[in-house]
Amino acid sequence: MSKGSQPSSNAHMRALTAIVRMVERSNESRSGSDETAARVRRYVAEHDAPRDDRDAFARLCCVIFAAGLGFGPVARCREALEAAFCGFEPSRVAELDEARATAMLAMPIIRNRAKIDACIDNGRRWHALTTGGGSYLARVAAAAADDDPSEGWPRLSAMLRADFSRLGAMTARLTLKRWGFFMAGSHPGARRLLTRLHCVDAAAPDAHVQRLIASLAQKAGRDPYSVEASLADFAADGPCRKEPHCERCALLERCPTGLAQEPQKAPETNARRPSESLQTAQSACGLPR
Ligand code: SF4
Repeated sequence: MSKGSQPSSNAHMRALTAIVRMVERSNESRSGSDETAARVRRYVAEHDAPRDDRDAFARLCCVIFAAGLGFGPVARCREALEAAFCGFEPSRVAELDEARATAMLAMPIIRNRAKIDACIDNGRRWHALTTGGGSYLARVAAAAADDDPSEGWPRLSAMLRADFSRLGAMTARLTLKRWGFFMAGSHPGARRLLTRLHCVDAAAPDAHVQRLIASLAQKAGRDPYSVEASLADFAADGPCRKEPHCERCALLERCPTGLAQEPQKAPETNARRPSESLQTAQSACGLPR
């Protein structure tokens, strides 16, 4: 990077960092600072590196149960799932039989037979891959050393899909994300917000979105998952939900999408324009001003 471009690049990142701070302040004023901080901590903890194989297998099963439902219902029956699946110990899950799978349909868990069968089958596969004292996480670490995070960990994703049942491209990436591989996939809400702010293109690969969030986090000395959690919270419970509430959004003056939706109440000369800091942010994302 040339000497001349460095200050400009820093200015761009400062503008984006300011947007993240506004998002965080908005979250706090809506939910309270304690609840907002607790949500961020929970999200970071859910994506920490797994403690061991049992923890990693539990997260894999939760991703399968969450498919099509989201993680809320899974979190609500997490204890029942732990009990039904023998604490998610792969060697014990491998021993569950047809009768036990049928009995699970009467338990207070997500009663989807295909998902139950997939988790039992994956327990068998996990156990078979680690028979002899191996660890599946060691296999993951070895594969990760030969993979490319900037492309979203494609080899790791392919390995998971080959090793386990009922894992498509999206669920494999989501599993990796929940094992601490931040670049594996973007959160749909965080992505929606950044797209509406014109910080990323709607068709940008997930890894591009994650790189931007990781850069912001690095600049702020933060965990990338914590920045993503704030953006996701703003998109789930704040104004930038699927049907946005732009009229009560703190980012309105900085958001091309929100400004474009505003009714034309004023003559052209008084029409609102994206602020200077937004133009800087757009430029930071490679967009023409
Ligand atoms: S102004 Fe509207 S589209 Fe833009 S960030 Fe806010 S809620 Fe989302």
